[in-house]
Amino acid sequence: MSNAPILLTPGPLTTSLRTRQAMLVDWGSWDRDFNQLTASLCEQLLAIIDGAASHHCVPLQGSGTFAVEAAIGTLVPRDGKVLVLINGAYGQRLAKICKVLGRAYSTFETAEDQPTTAADVDRLLAADPAVTHVALIHCETSTGILNPLPEIAQVIKRHGKRLIIDAMSSFGALPIDARQVPFEALIAASGKCLEGVPGMGFVFAEKTALAAAEGNAHSLAMDLQDQHAYMAKTGQWRFTPPTHVVAALHEALLQYNEEGGLPARHQRYADNCKTLLDGMAKLGLRSFLPAEIQAPIIVTFHAPKDPRYQFKDFYERVKAKGFILYPGKLTQVETFRVGCIGVVGAAGMQAAVNAVADVLREMEVLDI
Ligand SMILES: *Cc1c(COP(=O)(O)O)cnc(C)c1O
Repeated sequence: MSNAPILLTPGPLTTSLRTRQAMLVDWGSWDRDFNQLTASLCEQLLAIIDGAASHHCVPLQGSGTFAVEAAIGTLVPRDGKVLVLINGAYGQRLAKICKVLGRAYSTFETAEDQPTTAADVDRLLAADPAVTHVALIHCETSTGILNPLPEIAQVIKRHGKRLIIDAMSSFGALPIDARQVPFEALIAASGKCLEGVPGMGFVFAEKTALAAAEGNAHSLAMDLQDQHAYMAKTGQWRFTPPTHVVAALHEALLQYNEEGGLPARHQRYADNCKTLLDGMAKLGLRSFLPAEIQAPIIVTFHAPKDPRYQFKDFYERVKAKGFILYPGKLTQVETFRVGCIGVVGAAGMQAAVNAVADVLREMEVLDI
């Protein structure tokens, strides 16, 4: 176990031994103890956004995308229209979900190094009164760019529209306060900044909106209103829950709170990001995004120009030194990505930078 590589990827990511050990128990899905675990989990998750008064936490089996699809399918009425804000692959996926679900939508796309602005949203909403919902990626994981959520949320509220936020890669590390940022739904998952294992998502859904959403969903399994109603009535998940994932996330949340909650998690990731950026800059590796719009979650680096650099070879060599990197996701420029999240600190990030330096030397990539 100890020589397993460190995952510098945005989920699945490196988890603690304690979190993994929490999966060594088998739980009965009907059992009172497991139902209490689920209830406690939802309560702790709501506390992170101060959302207990305004929102329900609805957990859902599956990867993060399942929860995003369920949120859109449940909360956007069949005659609704979604304005999708895009500056990367996850934004594109939101539009694809709307298309597959048969919800009317329009898109607004900025360059991958260009955040969507509140002024953009203001103008778009003024121009199209048919829009009922706006869908936004908080931290677009395909580059690591941070979109200005609080400002955009206020504009949407002023227009009387509803906001659905994919906060998958930011929730738990970047502050979002449900009492100050108006939103109808916010979606995240077990295996990202909370440092659980992958396997479940959860949606914070505004209580009144969720109650009004009965019959909207296109799908039985993806109906969050039904999932919530059943859970409220019985304390149980509707269908087989990912018991081990729930137990691991519960244990991960205990550690999250012991570490100091969101401010501590944010600080550790910010330190990781700084160590990474400073170290890579010394090697001559440039980050794709300017610092002002870089979230401390994942960093995109320009690949070295030297033809001796090949990502596959680079990746395998860095892996042999104990670190798993992530390929780039940009179509125009050759990049690779390094995650700052997971059970890793600044010393681990420095070790990763050192491994990259050694590998580039071995590969005789000379333009760095
Ligand atoms: C990870 C992630 C998702 C969900 O991806 P899955 O592969 O379905 O877990 C969605 N949106 C963003 C921004 C993400 O980072």
